[in-house]
Amino acid sequence: MEPQPAPGRQDSFREVLKEAVTPVTWQTWLEPLRVENDGNGSIRVVAPSEFHLRWVEDKHFDTVRDAAHRAFGTHTDVILEASHEPVLDEFEDETPEPQPPETTGHSGPAADGDDSPLLAKYQFNNFVVGPSNRFANAAAMAVSEQPGTRYNPLFIYGKAGLGKTHLLHSVGHNGRYLYPRLVVQYVTSEAFFNDFIDGIRRKRMDEFKARYRNIDILLLDDVQFFEGKEQILEEFFHTFNSLHEAGKQMVISSDRHPKHLSTLEDRLRSRFEWGLLTDIQPPDVETRLAILRRNAELAPLQVPQTVLEFIASHVLDNIRELEGALTRVTAYAALTGQEIDLDMASDVLQDLVPQKDSRPLTVEEIIHAASSSFSVPADDLVGPSRKQPLALARQVAMYLCRELTDLSLPRIGQNFGNRDHTTVMHAVDRVKKLMQSDQRIFDQVTALSQSLRRT
Ligand code: ADP
Ligand code: MG
Repeated sequence: MEPQPAPGRQDSFREVLKEAVTPVTWQTWLEPLRVENDGNGSIRVVAPSEFHLRWVEDKHFDTVRDAAHRAFGTHTDVILEASHEPVLDEFEDETPEPQPPETTGHSGPAADGDDSPLLAKYQFNNFVVGPSNRFANAAAMAVSEQPGTRYNPLFIYGKAGLGKTHLLHSVGHNGRYLYPRLVVQYVTSEAFFNDFIDGIRRKRMDEFKARYRNIDILLLDDVQFFEGKEQILEEFFHTFNSLHEAGKQMVISSDRHPKHLSTLEDRLRSRFEWGLLTDIQPPDVETRLAILRRNAELAPLQVPQTVLEFIASHVLDNIRELEGALTRVTAYAALTGQEIDLDMASDVLQDLVPQKDSRPLTVEEIIHAASSSFSVPADDLVGPSRKQPLALARQVAMYLCRELTDLSLPRIGQNFGNRDHTTVMHAVDRVKKLMQSDQRIFDQVTALSQSLRRT
């Protein structure tokens, strides 16, 4: 016999569900669920995607089951599954043939052309997923696949060094890959702010507005920077509304939950909570190990499991420091020709395990230390000259800023005479390589880092 349609009971199921949760949860997660009653004592609840399914299962399963019991009877089995129908979305029809590079609309709004390209190494395929970042990763992936359609904005928050910037870039890469015609723009909140101030100064606010409102996927990093900056809040509020109304995707990161961004106006704060909020927690030990293992695969030398475990058990809550510790060990081994073992690793890392309650270092302190170690004037380190040994000293100082502070790449660049964040990334990579081939550099960087950590 065909299952009986029971619209009455389905309606009451939906009503009970709707009553049980906040309006946002209802709209985002529960309303899209489809219910099928097979008439044999079980109902199938179908979510529109795998991601959606996992979210409902994890966060709302009890609510769904209770509602089913009330609407269909207490012995009803609830089977949750994901829809296998292809997802129809508004972008699909538009998926273009590949375009010549000038017309793909990549360059976005930066004032002097594309000053915020996406960094190639920050992609989904090298983001290690664990319990601490699983939802943030899945949500980021979902918005990159269907920008602007659901979860808007996606707001990712968590402490420094846990992968927020990595995820924002990943959304950008994947979005560009899937929808080459969309304008994808990564921008730090600070750069957004500077652009805005620049627009005011040059009386070109129309340009500023046109540029930002033309974006299809806006990746706005470190929005806590807006705190206490009255001027920008009003403007950003309008940018936000205009993008949101036009169905453009926003992904926003912050070092804390919107409710702790205390000086943001309520109306902006509540908009951050319109879409999907997800945090990133410090990684558990398995995830730390997995990240180290992945990094170790790229290292020129074999790194034994015991050493990876040693590092994973000493560097707890910052992935940047985790990577720094591994670099130090492999560089030392490459230089000295020693095999990597536990003794050597604990020796090399003895001063590098972060001291919990030390105060954060400033860029000035790092520049000062590099300046005296390389015997070059501090002013020149932030100046334009690219002569040696100045250029090397500058790169080392940038490397140390990356390793020892929580500052973003653009922020570091700014402190070195307004250099681009790709310049900083290049400096970091170059110093890492040099440390493996040049004993003096290794010693000098290690000594600098150790003395700075002791201050
Ligand atoms: P945040 O923006 O939260 O301060 P980042 O995105 O800059 O952190 O991440 C710091 C470093 O750690 C980057 O080099 C990034 O690639 C790496 N990282 C963070 N999370 C992961 C992860 N889950 N898997 C691999 N690498 C990660
Ligand atoms: Mg960041």
